[in-house]
Amino acid sequence: MFFGCESAMQLKDTLIRQIQNHGPIGVDRFMEAAVSYYYAKNPAIGAEGDFITSPEISQLFGEMIGIWLADCWIKMGQSPSIALLECGPGRGTLMADILRATRHISGFHQALSVTLLEASSAMRERQRQALETVWLGDICWIDSLAEFVPEIPVLIVGNEFLDALPMRQYQKTTDGRWMERVIGWSEEQGFHFGLRDSVVELNVSACMAGQIFEVSPQRENFIRSCADLVTSQGGAGLFIDYGHLRSSAGETLQAVKDHKKCGVFDFLGEADITSHIDFGALVDCLQGTKSFTTSQSVFLQRLGITHRIGALKTKTTPEQFIQLERGFERLVSDTQMGKLFKVFGFCSNDFDSLTGFE
Ligand code: SAH
Repeated sequence: MFFGCESAMQLKDTLIRQIQNHGPIGVDRFMEAAVSYYYAKNPAIGAEGDFITSPEISQLFGEMIGIWLADCWIKMGQSPSIALLECGPGRGTLMADILRATRHISGFHQALSVTLLEASSAMRERQRQALETVWLGDICWIDSLAEFVPEIPVLIVGNEFLDALPMRQYQKTTDGRWMERVIGWSEEQGFHFGLRDSVVELNVSACMAGQIFEVSPQRENFIRSCADLVTSQGGAGLFIDYGHLRSSAGETLQAVKDHKKCGVFDFLGEADITSHIDFGALVDCLQGTKSFTTSQSVFLQRLGITHRIGALKTKTTPEQFIQLERGFERLVSDTQMGKLFKVFGFCSNDFDSLTGFE
């Protein structure tokens, strides 16, 4: 019902009407409405946009992901056909770098069919432009994972995609129950948080009264569906995002506009709204599928990012190399993205291991 709003004002009015008619809404509904409007209207990724992502920081990122994908393909016996799916490709930079980095791997491009899962038509147009010079084959765009029905092995990748999927928040009461954190609206307060009764049972130890615990059935269902595809077709999946490896209490809902954090109600529909990924929950929901987690720093270094930047030194101008070094530092340094960002991989049982994980 929120899709297709023409302006941020219309989005706000739609949410207010929804709250007035049916009562406060869950954080998941709020996120879904704000995020879908944001990407439909303000595809603002990159230095001049609201936030910057790893592929936009450095080509090194996409190159390493490309090597990882090609390595999986080799582990799969160089399957003659393989369906590569990227979830939430943004400006198309990651896929462009993946394809550029792997173009000399004999037989890999010939085996590939490329699918992009992207809800926003504005983003699709950017992806088309980014890929037109690097990929001469067909590209298939889909709106939802249910449309992806390859009858061949699959490789699935997504950077900062899961964080855009909605999550719910629950708060522990002094008598040990969980109440859902919801969003209401009034003339005096505007949008504001409140609590409503909930029957949810969360199996969370070490959570004190007043603390918030976030759960995302949408993210878990999405990962489960990807793992089902990987299991049934053979193949592997890789998702990179910020978050924590062990499930724990804490509020992580955030809004970012012009590279600065702002209140989640401040620029409705005009700020990027996300939350941290609970990778522990994702691992738990993939019982029976081989899965692995590590930090972005460890993953990129195991894939050889240090060698790659070394090799680029002789092929770039000193100015270009300074840029590459800056990007490298930002991606791998523990005080920047190296530690906060995690990499989550899973694969079919015919894989002995996945490169890049400890
Ligand atoms: N992977 C890119 C962009 C991340 S931003 C990068 O690293 O730069 C999130 C991307 O996911 C955007 O392209 C957005 O339009 C898309 N997206 C967000 N929610 C989606 C959904 N529910 N279904 C499909 N695409 C979605």
